[in-house]
Amino acid sequence: PTAPGEKSALLQARQRHAGQSSVLFYAEPIEMVKGEGVWLTAADGRRYLDVYNNVPSVGHCHPRVAEAIARQAATLTTHTRYLTKIVENYAERLLETLPAGLSNLVMTCSGTEANDLAMRIAEAGTGGRGFIVTEAAYHGNSAAVNEISPSAWKSRRPAAHVRLVPAPKEPGFDRAVAAAAVSLNEAGIGVAALIVDSIFSSDGIFPDPAGFLAPAVAAVRAAGGLFIADEVQPGFGRAGAGMWGFGRHGVEPDIVTMGKPMGNGFPMAGVVTRPDLLAGFCEETGYFNTFGGNPVAAAAGLAVLDVIRDEGLIENAREVGTYFRDGLVDLGERVSAMGEVRGAGLFIGLDFIDPETGAPNAAKASRTINALKDKGILIGAAGLYANTLKIRPPLPFSRDNADFFLKALGETLTN
Ligand code: PMP
Repeated sequence: PTAPGEKSALLQARQRHAGQSSVLFYAEPIEMVKGEGVWLTAADGRRYLDVYNNVPSVGHCHPRVAEAIARQAATLTTHTRYLTKIVENYAERLLETLPAGLSNLVMTCSGTEANDLAMRIAEAGTGGRGFIVTEAAYHGNSAAVNEISPSAWKSRRPAAHVRLVPAPKEPGFDRAVAAAAVSLNEAGIGVAALIVDSIFSSDGIFPDPAGFLAPAVAAVRAAGGLFIADEVQPGFGRAGAGMWGFGRHGVEPDIVTMGKPMGNGFPMAGVVTRPDLLAGFCEETGYFNTFGGNPVAAAAGLAVLDVIRDEGLIENAREVGTYFRDGLVDLGERVSAMGEVRGAGLFIGLDFIDPETGAPNAAKASRTINALKDKGILIGAAGLYANTLKIRPPLPFSRDNADFFLKALGETLTN
């Protein structure tokens, strides 16, 4: 075993191989060897309660998903130029969860690819080239999508076709979006789309009041643009109110993108849109994706949908999420460094603030994240100032799991 403070051979290998391209969590990164439900086990045998990871949304290594992937991989796995029933079964099951007008699905392999394609569809559909995003948004890592992902920039300024609007912390989001749309039109760039993560996760989690997106979407449409709902984070039931985050806002997007939890770890993502928009795009350019929507992805995706339904995970997200939020609010009354608690279902943001000034306190968030690791809990931060604890566990999370977290957080903050 490696002594504390010493770099393990594995860490050295990672740094040698990946260079600076892939940043690890924690000053002393953890080597993980096994996942099950809401727990991860490290190489030293220590178990960690996962309060952070949304990819294994129906639970780490869910046996039904693992079995479906293995069975399909042993039966047929091809690129996407042949007919297979399982892929159409999946498309049908997925599209049933979306508004009827959004009846075309293009499957991709990552959320980035989905957003990249969504941007192209929006440009083709509107003739506009401009995009409106929130100031700490993340939408992906391709050349085009990085341009609309300010949280990934270090020193860059927005390109001419990108307008940033503040996260919806207070009323007026629609006015900021409307002004951005006018400015894109006045510059002769035109508006392709407003694209937002419908729970604003990298901005610091802003779900409320439900419905606030509707006037912003109306403003963008009035300026000739479309609305792209990036459901990579809130999608697949996490918000505890139906399958999709936009549903809480009573809006019907023109394009929906999704990824992360879609295959519970199997890399798959997708774009759902109206047939007229997709057809318009395909007239201008062909589209082909070797891996996106292959039979193994369909098997994984079907199993995920089955588990969400059969295990009542949306209801669980709502019920345990409310319990968890109430517990955090109670604790906040006793801890002056705890600020606002925001959330929907099992997606909760907790601000750390300077008790005197109310200013964002990223150092406290970071210390808390490390202290919780020592107590066997995985958690992370988000937001423009990195002072918001991002609470986003796998959906089978129980009240007991929430109690475990609340107790550890209370001990950490009151000691
Ligand atoms: N959109 C959002 C809201 C995301 O959080 C992410 C990933 N963090 C992406 C898109 C990109 O997805 P991927 O990493 O699968 O490319």
